[in-house]
Amino acid sequence: MLTDSHAHLDDARFAADREALIQRAWDSGVRRILTIGNGAGPDDMGCGISFAEAYPWIYSTVGVHPHDASKVEARHFEMIGRLAEHPKVLAIGETGLDYHYDNSPRDIQREVFQRQLEIAAKLDLPVIIHTREADEDTERILRMVSPLRGVIHCFTSGRGLADAALELGFLISFSGIVTFPNARELAEIARTVPAERLLVETDCPYLAPVPHRGKRNEPSFVMETARFLASARGITLEQLASQTSENFTRLFSPPETA
Ligand SMILES: [Zn+2]
Ligand SMILES: [Zn+2]
Repeated sequence: MLTDSHAHLDDARFAADREALIQRAWDSGVRRILTIGNGAGPDDMGCGISFAEAYPWIYSTVGVHPHDASKVEARHFEMIGRLAEHPKVLAIGETGLDYHYDNSPRDIQREVFQRQLEIAAKLDLPVIIHTREADEDTERILRMVSPLRGVIHCFTSGRGLADAALELGFLISFSGIVTFPNARELAEIARTVPAERLLVETDCPYLAPVPHRGKRNEPSFVMETARFLASARGITLEQLASQTSENFTRLFSPPETA
């Protein structure tokens, strides 16, 4: 059983063949997908719920991506709280800081990030953190809010943030980036994350793993990243799949819907 713990099934690039690629994921052994509720912006954060309602094995989240932080109004924080009551909404996010693209001003990113962490703490839900070129501020803000649990998704940060996240009880999730030949340092971090703290994801439609690099990514490709991680860690694919699926269950407590 393999779990894709981060996908964007609502993405327009899936419009033409969405049902077929969801079926392909199932046929390849993926038994759970967490689709991220960011959508095209804050008003669209419920975009994953229709998938969660249509498929017993798909779950969703709600939140505002750092790219969209400047579009947030007070009502969107209420919207997060309201939509998070849905039984198949398992987490708040993705939220965080992206200083690579800087699509929203950094001070607004920080404020919207912290607000969402506070909502997650209040609702006792895990958070899905997106962080890019913002290691220091991410760590500082995570330390300001408690109690928190969650995952740093599509991890590409340095050892310092990995250690801080582990110290704070967070999980670390790796995407196809870890399979890229130039990502040696990242692969070394992935090799050493404790077994009970590891997740695997596609972040599709972005970041297809080798050997699909450059193509549109999809949940069935999570197999390739899992295979890479298993090999780096000296365990079998089956062991990696079951460890990461158990970790997913422990963090997100998905309701039994089968
Ligand atoms: Zn992200
Ligand atoms: Zn994402």
